[in-house]
Amino acid sequence: MEDEVEAQVPLSNTKLRRVLAWFRQNLLLVFTIAGVILGVFFGLVLRIANPSEEAILLIGFPGDVFLRLLKMLILPLIVSSLITGLTGLDAKSSGKVGMRTLLYYFCTTMIAVLIGIILVLTIRPGESTQAKEKLDTGDVKSEITTLDAILDLLRNLFPSNLLQACFEQTQTYYEPQDIYDTVAVNVTAAPITLAPNVTPGVNVTDIVPSYNETTIDVFNQTISIRKVGYKGGMNVLGLIAYCILFGILLGQMGESGQTMVNFFSILNDITMKMVLLVMWYSPIGILSLICAKILAMDDLALVFSQLGLYMCTVIIGLLIHTSVLMTIYFLFTRKNPLRFFQGMLQAWVTALATSSSAATLPITMKCLEENLGVDSRITRFVLPVGATVNMDGTALYEAVAAIFIAQMNGIPMNLGKVITVSLTATLASIGAASVPSAGLITLLLVLSAVGIPAQDVSLIFLVDWFLDRCRTSINVLGDSFGAAIVDHLSKTEMNAVEEGMQKLEEGDANEMDGLTKPNEADGVDGVRSDNGSKDTTL
Ligand code: ASP
Repeated sequence: MEDEVEAQVPLSNTKLRRVLAWFRQNLLLVFTIAGVILGVFFGLVLRIANPSEEAILLIGFPGDVFLRLLKMLILPLIVSSLITGLTGLDAKSSGKVGMRTLLYYFCTTMIAVLIGIILVLTIRPGESTQAKEKLDTGDVKSEITTLDAILDLLRNLFPSNLLQACFEQTQTYYEPQDIYDTVAVNVTAAPITLAPNVTPGVNVTDIVPSYNETTIDVFNQTISIRKVGYKGGMNVLGLIAYCILFGILLGQMGESGQTMVNFFSILNDITMKMVLLVMWYSPIGILSLICAKILAMDDLALVFSQLGLYMCTVIIGLLIHTSVLMTIYFLFTRKNPLRFFQGMLQAWVTALATSSSAATLPITMKCLEENLGVDSRITRFVLPVGATVNMDGTALYEAVAAIFIAQMNGIPMNLGKVITVSLTATLASIGAASVPSAGLITLLLVLSAVGIPAQDVSLIFLVDWFLDRCRTSINVLGDSFGAAIVDHLSKTEMNAVEEGMQKLEEGDANEMDGLTKPNEADGVDGVRSDNGSKDTTL
């Protein structure tokens, strides 16, 4: 009996020690999840006290600072990570990695749209909804055409001014302009009071011809004039395009470009150190963001009951798409997708809290490289591109939302319209910025392409804060699965590049032997391997 007790004590001790070790290893994750739970808890509890607008502003302030910190890191991170990522690859490998990435992005986005369309046509949430009659609808005008959207995408891809691309992007807009018709005034209709102006002695019939030529402008109608202007927000697409070209060309320069490579490599390391600091602040930021959002919401129950089926359709679609992504990941890598999800939990929660895949990018990168061991040369290329153009969640959501609005208005969806919705939803998701509610704006494009009334967008706007969080977290997961799959498929190329580099370095070392002190050679090597492997040590 005594022996049994003795045996049990060390066993429970080991268990306890293991649990404590797990907590110590995952402290940040534990704090982040606690932030979410406490945010929801305090949000619901404080709602009872009906806090003032100022109080909500103050509660949300730490969250606002968190968002600003993350956004501050986007520009240096994208520039340095893309350039160092690409200089670590040779032209052939970067071409192959690029092709795999784009193929994965295109296929998964199309799958997401298909899932959305099948679900919305099966569940038909728009036919049973009472929301249209009961909820207030505002007036939303959409004039932007598919052509405008495609041209804007291309214009943004080639920014005319790189500095401006850091804070503005091109956007077509329509300016109302009044049209007047010019009408000739008949002199016989001219007022007779003109006569006193006629100087004495002048014959009235002499001045009549000049009155005959008088014209006036009469208002006819207001038309919209297409103009190309700028709107606030970083042109990430243009910066990415520039950095890709820059990185590939820099990589081909060899020794003469080494100083530049070192510069961007060090910039990348410093930025990642900053990311780590911001990550330790994230639990407070996330708590504040979630709590303030719950406090700022109007009548939750009404909105949820009116648009419940529509929300369920989107959420079921996102869940199905997640399981499809997991299956694809498993088929390619033969690794456990749940483990992968566990490694990405921090990024997933951050996406839920911030509703922005761009703001989550630094944390996504960190999770993939450090928790899941994905090659940093791959993450540095695949993730920034993915955060900008690959939005599976948004594509699925846009397809569901467009058909939902059509169903509410009794607009029949024939095959042609369904195909148009799927193509424009894909395009709209590529064009959507990775910021909160961007998908709701590009949804107008899908609606106008199939002639669905745009004013009903204000209806689904009521629940967009929630669906935006859900779809952003799937956008981030989609990019992450993509990076892991591309990493797995590109192992041969990566190894070849590494071997090539090693040979080059060995050759250099032999040549330099006797001429250079060993620690000098190490210095160069250190930088080079920094640039090329999964090493971003912090
Ligand atoms: N908020 C989303 C993102 O950042 C875009 C969207 O509104 O769908 O990925």
